[in-house]
Amino acid sequence: MSLTRKTTLFFVTLASLVIIALMAIGLYSFRHIYLKSVENQAKTAAEIVRVYLTEAMLNGTIDKRKQFMDRLNAVHGLLSADLFRGPDVVAQHGPGLQSEQAQDAVTAQVIASGKPYFGLIERDGGYLFRASIPYKAQNEGTPNCLSCHKTRAGTVLGVISLHISVEEQRIEAAWTVGIVIAVISFFALGAAVFSLRTARPLIAIAGQVQETVDRASKGDYRGRIETDRNDELGQIAASMNRLMAHLSEGLTAISGKVAQLIRYNMPPITNLLDTTIEMVDCLGDVAAFKQAIEEDETTEEVYARLSRILREEFLVDHFSIYEVSHSKNRMQPVVVDGAPDQNCRWCDPQILLRADGCRAKRTGHPVDSVMTPDICTAFSTCGSLEGCRHVCIPVIQSGSVGSVVQLITDGVQAPLLQKMMPFIQVYLRESAPVLESKRLMDSLRENSLRDPMTGLHNRRFLQEYADTLTTYSDRKKSSFAVLMADMDYFKQVNDTYGHEAGDTTLKQLAMILRESTRASDLVIRYGGEEFLILLRDLGEEAAMATAEKIRDGVEKHRIQLAGAVINKTISIGVAIYPDDSTTFWQVVKYADVALYRAKEAGRNRVLHFQPEMWTEQDRY
Ligand code: GH3
Ligand code: MG
Ligand code: MG
Repeated sequence: MSLTRKTTLFFVTLASLVIIALMAIGLYSFRHIYLKSVENQAKTAAEIVRVYLTEAMLNGTIDKRKQFMDRLNAVHGLLSADLFRGPDVVAQHGPGLQSEQAQDAVTAQVIASGKPYFGLIERDGGYLFRASIPYKAQNEGTPNCLSCHKTRAGTVLGVISLHISVEEQRIEAAWTVGIVIAVISFFALGAAVFSLRTARPLIAIAGQVQETVDRASKGDYRGRIETDRNDELGQIAASMNRLMAHLSEGLTAISGKVAQLIRYNMPPITNLLDTTIEMVDCLGDVAAFKQAIEEDETTEEVYARLSRILREEFLVDHFSIYEVSHSKNRMQPVVVDGAPDQNCRWCDPQILLRADGCRAKRTGHPVDSVMTPDICTAFSTCGSLEGCRHVCIPVIQSGSVGSVVQLITDGVQAPLLQKMMPFIQVYLRESAPVLESKRLMDSLRENSLRDPMTGLHNRRFLQEYADTLTTYSDRKKSSFAVLMADMDYFKQVNDTYGHEAGDTTLKQLAMILRESTRASDLVIRYGGEEFLILLRDLGEEAAMATAEKIRDGVEKHRIQLAGAVINKTISIGVAIYPDDSTTFWQVVKYADVALYRAKEAGRNRVLHFQPEMWTEQDRY
C-alpha cells in the first residue's frame, strides 16, 4: 500500500473513531443527566403530595384528596399520579378510594421492600419515565406519623406512582447530540484534511527519496528529487540531490580509473557500484597473486599458481598453457588441464614444430571461437565436451608472444567464460613480465652451465649435478662410469692450422662424443680439450666397451678444416663409481690418473684405473 493511501486511511479512521467515541459519550451522558433530572422532578412531586396529604390529615380534609390528585394529573408533562395505600393504613382506615386499590407488581414490590423504583418504560411506541416512591412512617419530627398511624416507624404507609413524559427531553437530547456531533465532525474532518494537506508534500518527497534510493541500489545514480520548496523538505531534497551527484561523480571517476587499470571495457548499462566492487576485488586478488608469483622460484610454480586461479576462481577445468620458443619457432605445452604435461591435447601437434600454426601466437591477438566459430584450423578436438568453444590468449613478453593460454569450455558455459575474460586477462597480463623475467633467469642460468662453443655442459654444471648423480646411483644401487678424454697432440692443430681450426676440431670432437653416447649420458667440456663423459647405470665392462667405441669413432673420423682434412685421436681414462671410490671427485681424479697413464703408454688408448696407478705424488 502506498504511503499516501496509508496516511489517508489513518487520518480518516482516526476522525471516524473520534466522532463515534464522542457520539457514544454524548448520548450516554445526556441520557444519564435527563434521567437524573426526571428522577429529581418525581421525588419533588412525591414530596409535595406527601406534604399535602399530611396537612389534609391534620386539617381533616383528607377526603378531598381526589380533587387534588385529579388536578395534579392535569399538570403538563405529568401523565399520571396515583396513590396506593400500604397494608397498615388499609387495616386502620379501610381500602380507601377505588383508584388507590388497584396495585401493580412494581407498586407491590415498592410497598414490600420500602425502596423506590425509577425506570424508563416503553409505551405506544414512545418512552415514559415511571417513579414509584414509598412514604415511610417516621416517629420523629413534626408531625410525628406514629401519632396518627397505628404502625411502626419505617413501615410503608403508601406509594405514589408517577408517570412522566420524556419525549421532549429525548427530542432535545437528539438535537443537542446531533449538533455536537455535527460540530465535532466538522472539526475532526477539517483536522484530517489539514493534516493530509500538510503531510502530502512530505509523502511526495518520501516517495521520490525511495525511488532515487531504489535506482541507486541498482547502480543508477542519476535519480534526483524535484521540488521547488524552500522549507526543511526542500533542504532535505537538496542535500539528497547533492549526495547523489557526489556519489555518481565519485563512482564514475573511481570505476573509470579502476577499469583503466585492469583494461576493462565497462558495458554501458551496468551497476556502477557492483562493477566497481568486482573490479576492486579483482585488483586486490591480482595484487596478492602478483606478489606470490614474484616470490616463486621457477616458471613451473608460476604456471601452477595460474592454473589454480583458472580452476578455482574462474571455474575453468580445461585449459592449456604453451610456451613459445622464438629461436626455434616452436611451442611446448607446459600445463594441460591444470597439470604439468607435455602433450598437445586440444590442438594439432603440428603447432609444436611450427609455432606460427597457432593463430594466437601468429597474430598476437586473442582467438575466440565463442565469437567466431571455427576461427582456428589448428584447434583439433572437443573430446567429450559437447559443442566446445576455445579462447586462446597470447601472453605478450618483450613485445612478442611468449606464451599462449588456451581456455576450453562447453557450449553452456561459453557466455560465462566470455564475461570473465577481462578479469582472466588481468591475471595473464600481470603474469607476463614475471614469467618473462623467470624465463630469462632460467635461460641465463642454463647458459652459465653450458659451454657456448660446443653447446655441452661445463664443469660448473658438473659441480651442481654431482650430488644428484651419486644420490640417484646410491638409491638405485647402480654404478656409473667417469671417462676422462683428452685429444692427443692437440696443440699441433693450433700450431699448424691456426686457433680457429683448433676450435672446429673441438666442436667436431664434441659432436662425436655426443653421438656416441645415450641421451641419459652426459658429455661435459671439462677443460680446454678435455672432456668428461658420464655413462649412467654401467659397470666396468660396458663402460670400457663404450670408451673404446668412442676412441675408435674419433680415430676414424675425418675432421674437415678449411683447406685440410685431418685425423685426430684421443686417450681415455676410465674409473667407476662406486667400485673405484665412493667419493665422486675421487673417481674423477682416478679417471684423470688413468688418462695420464694412457698418454704415457703412447696415447690413442683407453685405460681403466688401477690402484697401483695411484702414486704418492698423485696424492698431492
Ligand atoms: P697431449 O697429447 O699431451 O694432450 O698433447 P696436447 O698438445 O694436446 O697437449 P695439451 O693437452 O696440454 O694441449 C692443450 C692445448 O689445447 C693448449 C691450448 O692451446 C689448447 N686449447 C685449449 N682450449 C682451446 C680452445 O678452446 N681452442 C683452441 N683452439 N685451443 C685450445
Ligand atoms: Mg689436455
Ligand atoms: Mg691433449
